[in-house]
Parts: sequence; C-alpha cells; structure tokens
Amino acid sequence: MNDSISEVFFSKKSVTQMEEHVAEDKENERCGFLIGRVYEISGELCTYIAEAIPAKETSSSMAGVVIEGASHLAWLLALEEYRKTKSENYTLAGWYHSHPFGGFSDGIFLSGRDTSIVECQLNQPYQVAVVLNPNGGSRGVFGWIEGKIKKIEKAYILSEEFFE
Ligand SMILES: [Zn+2]
Repeated sequence: MNDSISEVFFSKKSVTQMEEHVAEDKENERCGFLIGRVYEISGELCTYIAEAIPAKETSSSMAGVVIEGASHLAWLLALEEYRKTKSENYTLAGWYHSHPFGGFSDGIFLSGRDTSIVECQLNQPYQVAVVLNPNGGSRGVFGWIEGKIKKIEKAYILSEEFFE
C-alpha cells in the first residue's frame, strides 16, 4: 500500500455533520471520528469520507478536548452498520476537531498534541485529520505525504449520490 495520501473526497453529509458539530461551541474544541473507505486510483492513495461521528467530550477548552470512552462505541457502531449495509471496506478513516480561534490566525494547523495523535494513534497513511474553525469557517485536512504530516491540497466535496 502506498504510504502517501493523494486526494481526499468528502461526502457533503460528512462536511455538514462536522460543521454543525463544531459550530455548537465557538469557544471550546470539539472533535469526532470519520468513517470512510480507501481507494487506490492509478496507484494513488485516496480516501473517501462518508460520515462524521461526533465524540462526546468530558471536558473541553480552547486548547483541547478529552472525550468519553463511550464515544468510541458510537463510531464503532456506525462503522459496523456501514460494513453490514454497504461494504466491508469501510474503516475508521480519520478524525476531526475544531480550533475555535479568532483574530489574526485562521486556526488551521496541527498543534504538537494533534501531531502526536496523527503519529501515534490515527497514523495509517489513509487516515486524515481535519481541522475546522467555527469562527470564520476555515478548514483544512492533513495527512501523511512522503513520510511527513502535511496539509493535503487536493480535497473535494462530493455530492452524496455519487458514491452512496
Ligand atoms: Zn488541535
């Protein structure tokens, strides 16, 4: 398997789910998991994100969020449903969280803590990290490109019917 991600496709639904979840709190971080599947198109690794599953936070601040253990159950159940009804190839394709920054920064970067999550936990080459800023609406997606964690420039939103 290719170790660099080339392109990321988001269902419109997953983007709406992420944006609505992070917009619920414009001061504290929110996070969740991404269910999707992986494609190799002309030898290039591509990830499709079908759905975003919000995590329930136990504590949250502007600088971080700690989630309930039960939150993992939510994405596991959603994934099981996708595997049963659509394809065995669905997987945990990444995670998202908000950076509720204001002012001069658009907030779209990975902090040291975010980077260590990408390095140690959700570290498969097809897994992506999405950052959204509920104050201003900027967003970015990060993943592994040639052994480094970088912003993925080729990211698209698909209309729902296309893959479903
Ligand atoms: Zn962060």
